[in-house]
Amino acid sequence: MDYLSVEHFLQEQLSQWPEARKRFEGLEEVMTRSIDLRQGENLVLQLNPQRIRSSAAATDAPSIARRACFLCPEQRPPEQLIWPFGSDYHILVNPFPIFPQHLTIVSKAHVPQRLAGRIGDMLHLAQHLKGTTVFYNGAKCGASAPDHFHFQAGSSDLMPLEEEWRHHRRETLWEQEALLIQASANTQRHYLMLEDDDSERLEQVLQSILEQLQKLQEEKEEARINLLARHQGSHWRLFLFPRGAHRPRQYALQGKEGLLLSPASVDFGGLFICARVEDYDKLDAPQLRDVLSQCTLPAGQWQKFKEKLSAYFSKL
Ligand SMILES: [Zn+2]
Repeated sequence: MDYLSVEHFLQEQLSQWPEARKRFEGLEEVMTRSIDLRQGENLVLQLNPQRIRSSAAATDAPSIARRACFLCPEQRPPEQLIWPFGSDYHILVNPFPIFPQHLTIVSKAHVPQRLAGRIGDMLHLAQHLKGTTVFYNGAKCGASAPDHFHFQAGSSDLMPLEEEWRHHRRETLWEQEALLIQASANTQRHYLMLEDDDSERLEQVLQSILEQLQKLQEEKEEARINLLARHQGSHWRLFLFPRGAHRPRQYALQGKEGLLLSPASVDFGGLFICARVEDYDKLDAPQLRDVLSQCTLPAGQWQKFKEKLSAYFSKL
C-alpha cells in the first residue's frame, strides 16, 4: 500500500507493532553527550544498547553464509509493513531505531550490498522521503547485512555534520552551474561534499569519483565508503566519507582497552552510537580522534585522492 508521508507510514506501523513502538518511545530517554573533537568539529555520543546487534554483527563471509538473512521477506517479523518504492524496493520501519524516524529500504531481491547502478535510486529516495537523510553503508563499512542490498533513512538534522560543515574549512574541487564539489580541509574525518540540482549529472559525477577511489583503495568490488544524501528545496547535498579501517583496532581488544565501535554513516555524520555503557562512559576526545583517524581514509591517500579528482575535473 502507499502512504502519504514518512510520518504517516511510521504511525501506521507503530500502531500495529507494540514491540517496535516501545523501542521508538525508548529513544526519547536515550542518553547523549557532546564531545568537542577539535575546533569546530563536534560529535554527539548516543548510548543505544539495542544497537549491539548491529555494532557486534559478524559480517565475515562464513558467518553470513550460516545465518538466515533478516532482510529477506521470509525472515521478517509478521508485523512489518511494506511501503513499496519503484519496482525494486521495499521501505520498512527499522525496529532498532537510532532516529525518531528510522527506515530501512531493502531491495526486493537478495543481492549483495553494492551501490553501482543505484545512485539515482538513492537520490530519488532522498527526494521522496521528506524530512529524512538517506544513507548507504558499504559492505566493508558498517553494513550489518552485506549480502542483502539496503539503504537506510533517518530524521534529518540529528547528525551534527549536517549543519556543522558550514563552519569547516573546505577546498573547492569543482564548480559548474549548480554543481559544487568540495573537500574538507582540516577535519579529523575526511569528507567530500557534493551539491547539485540535477540528479543525472550528480549521479554521473559521483560514479566517476567512486571509480577513482576504488582504484586508489585497490578494491575489487567497490570503493569503501559511507554516504549521506539529503534533498532540500531544489537540490541534493551529499557527504561522502572515504574509508580506512572497517573497525578500529580497539574493537578486537578485551577489557579496559576495548571499544565496541563499528563506525558507519551515522557515526561519520557525527552521531556516534555506543552500544555499551562502558564505552559511552569512558570515551573522550583523544580516543575518538584515534578511532576516526583509523577509520577515515589515511592522510596520504586522501591527498592523492584530491589531486586525482582535481586533475580529472580540470579535463572536463
Ligand atoms: Zn536477504
